[in-house]
Amino acid sequence: MFKLRVTDIKQYMYCPRIVYFTYVCPVQKKVTRKMQYGQEAHLELDRLEKRRTFKRYNFKEGERKFHASLYSPRLGLEGKLDMHIVAGGEIFPVEFKHSSQGPSLNHKYQLIAYAMLLEDTYNKPVRYGFIYVDSEKAIPVEVTPNARVYVKETLEKIRLLVSKELMPNKAGEKGKCVDCEYRNFCADVR
Ligand code: SF4
Repeated sequence: MFKLRVTDIKQYMYCPRIVYFTYVCPVQKKVTRKMQYGQEAHLELDRLEKRRTFKRYNFKEGERKFHASLYSPRLGLEGKLDMHIVAGGEIFPVEFKHSSQGPSLNHKYQLIAYAMLLEDTYNKPVRYGFIYVDSEKAIPVEVTPNARVYVKETLEKIRLLVSKELMPNKAGEKGKCVDCEYRNFCADVR
């Protein structure tokens, strides 16, 4: 099975063309200021998180594991998770995001995909995880059966896109293209 990355799910949901530019017609993407800021802010969040208690996750105690590389042969999926917490015999994925509007749908399904990788790694069900937005609040996200199905269907769609080698339509919302690192390669985007 063609191996995909968890970030492909996030990118596909943002704009399927990004997956096309990643696998079908690879290009040198532009590093935007937004991406640079995201990397710097991630390092700062790692540093702060190491000093915190588990209160904001509603746990008395637990163990934090940073940047685990995960792989599921069953799903043909790999990824590096920001952090996961082992507490009370359960596992909880945590993703750090920078957004003024809270987590978006593609962030949610990225977290669900990481939860599925953790389930295969630990051989245990994951009930929920957290999206940590701009160091303010850990927002719980439930890992439902429907959400798992959605992730699997998205992986199938991505594999189909890659095998057919067809360029998808441009993003429906014009605002998405403004900060997109692939903008230079979309001739139909003004
Ligand atoms: S510029 Fe717009 S259409 Fe092109 S890849 Fe980015 S989001 Fe998609």
